[in-house]
Amino acid sequence: MSSRRALTRCLLGMVWLAAWAFVPATYAQPPARALAPWVDVHLHLIGGRGQQQDFAGAVDVAIQEMDRFGIAMAIVLPPPQVDAQQVYDAFAFVGALQRHRDRFAYFGGGGVLNSIIHRYADPATVTDAVKRDFTAAAGQIIDSGAIGFGEMAALHISATTGHPYEFVHADHPLLRVLADVAARRDVPIDLHMDAVDGEMPTPPRFATLPNPPKLADTMGGLVRLVAYNPKAKIVWAHGGSDPLGAMTPAAIGRLMDAHPNLSVSLRIVGAQAPMMNKALTGTGLDPDWIELLTRHAARFLIGTDSFLVSPSVRGGGPGVGFAARNTPKLRATVHFLSLLPLDVAAKIGRENAMRIYKLPPR
Ligand SMILES: [Zn+2]
Ligand SMILES: [Zn+2]
Repeated sequence: MSSRRALTRCLLGMVWLAAWAFVPATYAQPPARALAPWVDVHLHLIGGRGQQQDFAGAVDVAIQEMDRFGIAMAIVLPPPQVDAQQVYDAFAFVGALQRHRDRFAYFGGGGVLNSIIHRYADPATVTDAVKRDFTAAAGQIIDSGAIGFGEMAALHISATTGHPYEFVHADHPLLRVLADVAARRDVPIDLHMDAVDGEMPTPPRFATLPNPPKLADTMGGLVRLVAYNPKAKIVWAHGGSDPLGAMTPAAIGRLMDAHPNLSVSLRIVGAQAPMMNKALTGTGLDPDWIELLTRHAARFLIGTDSFLVSPSVRGGGPGVGFAARNTPKLRATVHFLSLLPLDVAAKIGRENAMRIYKLPPR
């Protein structure tokens, strides 16, 4: 380069710098952060039952919502069901996912395995034969293409009509069996366990049947489960929107410090949602949560617990009712991710899911 051209460049550079120096500060701000595509590890499809079952319609709705909110990929789980319901598992919707294999993966067991666990809720009834059959059923779920087990329930508070109350300790003998299978197959378990730290009266909001008047401690069972098989990856669901009060950032932090096999998926809700220990408050990120999310940035994921309902589903049901919360939750989640430091958002929004769920790079 001639010295004249170099001088011209240098002068142009100085003019450019000088121009920026006089731009008012507000104009010099970087543009609002565009959100990188993220992964939702906890999504439900509602396709109706029996002859009218239409999971393909629910998948179409899911794709629309995923495109609208920047979700690159979602993990679909059958909800945690019990015998009193018309139990279904992943085999009911797996065919409908085939058209979008690049957008979905799925877990299994929320129907078949969870209903067995709660059928034998009393540990004394779990014979060797029950364990053998359960182990075989769990193995088949992974053999047929599921990449993990869920949604499994230890304590599942009933939040509305038709929504089951379920309770076993998280270290129930069959959840221990499941932890062993999960460790052997190197797949995660998605666990719904409403947090109770010491027995307590059921809060008034949930003090209706089928919930009992008192709730037993659940935190002890979770500690025993994660300690029982450190090779089993447990993803504790619904962090950041706690219905009962004990799923605090401090409690999660203590568990994570002691147990590297524990992760937490975050269900971010808006400021209006009647939940406790919320990660996102009316004024932004909760300071205790920021500290925890930064300290254990490799251990959190996003699991919105959205319910995508096929337009052909007639009638109500808890899933249809919960679907009304999808948009506020998804908006809150996008806002939440945009408030996190860039590197933490990349981990929680995408990288941790890719690693823990062994998703193929895209
Ligand atoms: Zn759940
Ligand atoms: Zn769920």
